[in-house]
Amino acid sequence: MKNIFILTGAGISAESGLKTFRDSDGLWENYRVEDVASIEGFEKNPKLVHEFYNMLRPMLEKAEPNAAHFAISDFERHRPDLNVFLVTQNVDLLHEKAGSKNVWHMHGRIDECVCLKCSHIFKTLGDVDFQMPCPKCGAKNLKPNIIFFGEMPMFMEKINQQLAGCDVFVAVGTSGVVYPAAGFVQVAKYYGAKTYLFNLESARNNFYFDHQITGKASETLPDFLKNLS
Ligand code: NAD
Repeated sequence: MKNIFILTGAGISAESGLKTFRDSDGLWENYRVEDVASIEGFEKNPKLVHEFYNMLRPMLEKAEPNAAHFAISDFERHRPDLNVFLVTQNVDLLHEKAGSKNVWHMHGRIDECVCLKCSHIFKTLGDVDFQMPCPKCGAKNLKPNIIFFGEMPMFMEKINQQLAGCDVFVAVGTSGVVYPAAGFVQVAKYYGAKTYLFNLESARNNFYFDHQITGKASETLPDFLKNLS
């Protein structure tokens, strides 16, 4: 059975109205990325970081998936002859909303928090204050369960196993700037996979892609996945 590795980035959610990093000049929804998405920023001002994610959470929860998210979930459903491994760098939940059942959120999820004392991860209902107690141990040391610059992404062991065994590697809406995700294509290619990039522009790591399909993912991805054999 063929193994298909799909990596998505902020660009797949752009047509759902969510801003990417690169499109907004290093800002994310008008905040400086270093302030709200780096471990240094969090250590310096956890209150600001929680305010940012409290603002972002309802925005992300309201967003609706677009044709590219649905193309992936249809592909997973209609191709039981393939193993599809879906990794996203996005913290939104648009793949799940589109019907994808098994999404590996390597950079975390907007709807979770983690206690920095006992590592308990729990769903967030509404706003989170950095002085709220952990529901398990009571410590007042909560962080959004989101990987910041300066932290190790999640599920790397599983991801590396899948990269080594994949036959086709597809990246969608990702600039090839943020590591380690930007290096996945190189690993997949090293192990013999065919590699495809669906992006609005060429990516920083485009050298490693056998095929680059330029355009909106909602327009380019559905036909490709329908015809993938
Ligand atoms: P990025 O912002 O660096 O790059 C996005 C890429 O998507 C760009 O190269 C752009 O050309 C492309 N793009 C934009 N619209 C597109 C479309 N309609 N179709 C196809 N491609 C399109 O994003 P990244 O590489 O994912 O890395 C940035 C980090 O930003 C990630 O770690 C992610 O966690 C975080 N982020 C997430 C969200 C989200 O959850 N929706 C939003 C912004 C940033």
